[in-house]
Amino acid sequence: PADAATVVARLVGDRAGDWDRAGRLPAEVVRELNAAGLLAPQIPTGYGGPGWSSLDSGEFTARVGSLCSSLRSVMTSQGMAAWAVERLADRAQARSLLPRLAATDTAAVAFTEPQAGSDLSAMTTTVTVTGDTLRLDGHKVWVTAADHADLLLTFARLGDQAAVVVVPRATPGVRVRRRAEPLGCRAAGHADVWFDAVRLPTSSLLGAGGQSMSLLVTTALSYGRISVAWGCVGILRACLTAAVEHAGSRHQFGRPLAHHQLVARHLADLWSAEQVATRVCEHASRCWDTGSPDMVTATVLAKYVSARHAARAAADAVQVLASAGAVDGHPVARAYRDAKLMEIIEGSTEMCQLMLADHVVNRR
Ligand code: FAD
Repeated sequence: PADAATVVARLVGDRAGDWDRAGRLPAEVVRELNAAGLLAPQIPTGYGGPGWSSLDSGEFTARVGSLCSSLRSVMTSQGMAAWAVERLADRAQARSLLPRLAATDTAAVAFTEPQAGSDLSAMTTTVTVTGDTLRLDGHKVWVTAADHADLLLTFARLGDQAAVVVVPRATPGVRVRRRAEPLGCRAAGHADVWFDAVRLPTSSLLGAGGQSMSLLVTTALSYGRISVAWGCVGILRACLTAAVEHAGSRHQFGRPLAHHQLVARHLADLWSAEQVATRVCEHASRCWDTGSPDMVTATVLAKYVSARHAARAAADAVQVLASAGAVDGHPVARAYRDAKLMEIIEGSTEMCQLMLADHVVNRR
């Protein structure tokens, strides 16, 4: 993945702050990253993807996350969509969709509704099937990348079961409205989506539908969680670099900031946070790469630990830079806003705590 790091360094350069302020990623950046197979690098080679391991994909996700959390969010959505297709689709669907996701098309994944946030069992978006046609009705909110994605993988009720519907965004009855000025990841194309009597062939149901909602949600979210966790490692690395550079070069009271012990403590905390997050993410990725039964729990742990550390460490980095970092678009100012959102998405900190507590109680 050394070449991949070069590609992303060239594509992003020092423009992430401008994209954040503009609230938009340039379309050609997303298109080029996709054409290089790097939006969802775990798509298997048999389907036209690079077929990277979770560990390689994770390190690359951290690299992107250190430069631009909005672009990393778009990667997370694409990878989550591809993983859902890989796990849930039939062979014909996988053969049609995965090569497109590995090169040309972009995708967003829609679970959340106005009354169904942490509690996705409250979802009311519904799909009904008549003959070989389906009809989709509902309303999704806060869908990352939905503002520009070609495909919306939409979770819905199907009778007393559930289904994922692959909806081309251009289908009649689909209405997308961009979310104005989110707290962070401002260029990630968050949008609300309405489905009003959207009609599609039943071949748009991944794996024919009729699966359990918790299976569908857990499958997609597992990829989302490990991707966000590695993205947080990237945020931590960006914050550490900025804080160390600043504390080494700025002098107050006759010596570098780093030589004041209370500032040095921030640097120690930042490095520890980056190291701890890296280790839990490596462990989770190894669980993915070896097919370990601990994969789901290790992934929740990685997401929980990395997001908490990133939110805390980004605040420390702003503290070390003080006025130098208190500028909209500065890497640590962006990290401060972006990292907080990492504690909310893909299972909030509290939902992760409940899952981890359930794990320790039930494994006894
Ligand atoms: P609520 O569920 O209303 O929770 C509010 C607070 O209460 C939280 O702190 C929560 O942890 C806590 N809480 C809730 N229940 C419990 C409980 N039982 N015990 C303890 N605490 C609890 N959705 C998508 O479908 N696709 C996307 O791509 C997507 N991208 C997003 C990107 C961003 C930047 C953001 C902010 C959101 C995104 N979302 C997306 C929505 C996201 O998944 C939800 O915001 C998240 O699931 C939390 O739901 P909520 O905001 O409704 O909060």
